[in-house]
Amino acid sequence: TLTAGVVAVQGDVAEHAAAIERAARERGLAVDVLEIRESGLVPDCDLLALPGGESTTISRLIHGEGIAPEIRTHVEAGKPLLATCAGLIVASSDADDDRVDELGLVDVSVERNAFGRQRDSFEAPLVIEGLEEPYPAVFIRAPAIDEVGDAEVLATWEDRPVAVRDGPVVATAFHPELTADSRIHGVAFFENEAASVPVSRTAGDR
Ligand code: GLN
Repeated sequence: TLTAGVVAVQGDVAEHAAAIERAARERGLAVDVLEIRESGLVPDCDLLALPGGESTTISRLIHGEGIAPEIRTHVEAGKPLLATCAGLIVASSDADDDRVDELGLVDVSVERNAFGRQRDSFEAPLVIEGLEEPYPAVFIRAPAIDEVGDAEVLATWEDRPVAVRDGPVVATAFHPELTADSRIHGVAFFENEAASVPVSRTAGDR
């Protein structure tokens, strides 16, 4: 059984937990989901999700609780991380906001709330690198990616990158945890060749 961690200090935690369970089930994998609100649990996790929510709050709490360095260690060990929306902002190398202490795990700079306050939320059929059919991407006050360093752009919307891969990290400006389509979880976790710990390959050995 795999252990999945959802960083649960704030944001759409239950949605992430349910989406991971569904994605694993669809692939015939057993998974236990831990909600991470304190340090000491991340080292037990095979894969991690950093949810959407409010990035300044998530940043403050993961640093305050000592979870931030554990997330870094997880990624440095080559284990997969999926960071969505506010999670992308926190995982980035530059969020252009003093209240966000970036983890620097995704080599991009981001602009918070980039798609306009009026048109807060929208769904778009996104063409994503490696997926055959467009992905129904839900954007909610989403960040856009401004500059891409040593990371691979997986999707763009309105000419701006909205999904990237940086080693074992997949980060999206949208919310794959809010749709029933588990293909992003596949790319991030279960068919992630870039992760040095390919989850689906270790699953059978446990
Ligand atoms: N606007 C939020 C922020 O900047 C992110 C929104 C989201 O995660 N849906 O933190």
